[in-house]
Amino acid sequence: MATYSHSRVSCFENCPYQYKLRYIDKIKVDVPTTIECFMGDMVHQTLEKLYKDKKFKKLVSKATLLKFYKDLWEKEYSEDILVVKADQGLTSENYRKMGMKFISDYYEKYKPFDQLTILGLETTDRMTLPDGNQWHVRIDKLACDDEGNYYVCDYKTNARMKDQEEADADRQLALYSIWVKDKFKDAKSVKLVWHMLAFNKEAVSERSDEQLEKLQKDVCDRIKEVESATEFPRKQSGLCNYCIYKEMCPSFKHEAELEKIETIKEFKEDEGVMLVDEFSEIKTKLSELKKQDEEFRDKLITYAKQFGVDIVYGSNKKCSVKEFDKIVLPEGENKEKFIQLMKDKGLYEELSMVCYPRLNSKIISGDIDEELKKMVDIIQDYRLSLSKRKDVGEE
Ligand code: SF4
Repeated sequence: MATYSHSRVSCFENCPYQYKLRYIDKIKVDVPTTIECFMGDMVHQTLEKLYKDKKFKKLVSKATLLKFYKDLWEKEYSEDILVVKADQGLTSENYRKMGMKFISDYYEKYKPFDQLTILGLETTDRMTLPDGNQWHVRIDKLACDDEGNYYVCDYKTNARMKDQEEADADRQLALYSIWVKDKFKDAKSVKLVWHMLAFNKEAVSERSDEQLEKLQKDVCDRIKEVESATEFPRKQSGLCNYCIYKEMCPSFKHEAELEKIETIKEFKEDEGVMLVDEFSEIKTKLSELKKQDEEFRDKLITYAKQFGVDIVYGSNKKCSVKEFDKIVLPEGENKEKFIQLMKDKGLYEELSMVCYPRLNSKIISGDIDEELKKMVDIIQDYRLSLSKRKDVGEE
């Protein structure tokens, strides 16, 4: 049995390939943290200090708390921390100030911080799932009130507000509420609270026992899927910018190599760049030729009609322009009726064709009779598709 966590399962959901590198191949990479993670960590540590002092009946002033944050930032900050949005003009100083604002707003909103009794800060534990696997529990702040309501609180420094739908669908804190109910038998309710620090607002959610039971089952099913996975495809998304394996990922490795090139000349002489540029040129020419082909087709038909001919002569070739009856088959609900009629008249078997794309996907997914599958060969082939690089502007 293994230990899973929200981040481990999310990693598989977001990109199975990243999951393989991280949890199966256990590849260690020496990459700097991102400024977003660093700022989040500094804010967490500062709020932890606030409540730790409070436990000893010491209310730290806002100025002292902000100084703590500032000193911590200076002590921990290093120049290799990655500012992913540097291309948008953001600097580490912007993030440092953002963190200051988050703490300042939070302080004003919740002072004197005695609405709830704090039971734990940065609590870590494990709980056993119904399938026997362990689930990692990590709660930023666990608290309760006098009425027997428990609060699982999470600090979020995201620039996007969590809406109610998202809060009600969140897996991470919801699973922790099972742990709370198990540990604290007097818990009348467990409220899940996200402190959305960038907005100085809370997102709150609560789950019924039935919902939690279903959630546990879904998580166990997902773990089963993770454990039985034999293929780990890459899933590109906005999260790739924060992926620690980006430089070794086949989808970005070439780009990372190009970033090390210093001159445009060297860049243009890179073999990969030359191949893609030429391939792209050929594709553009082909689509222009296809357009011209259609235009000439129309012109030749018009010419043939105008002069009443069905062969038009050129220097070395001649072009026959023959009118023919093209069958247009019914679409929509009439298509169904048409197919049914063919079946009723015993013509379907003889006249219908195998749908190759559907057959292929059934073979690939294994959703087909074994005897049929054994009769086909699966060979490696390539599909090439060109798309615009989002990181470069128009030339
Ligand atoms: S860079 Fe993107 S596609 Fe590649 S491993 Fe990371 S998350 Fe997956």
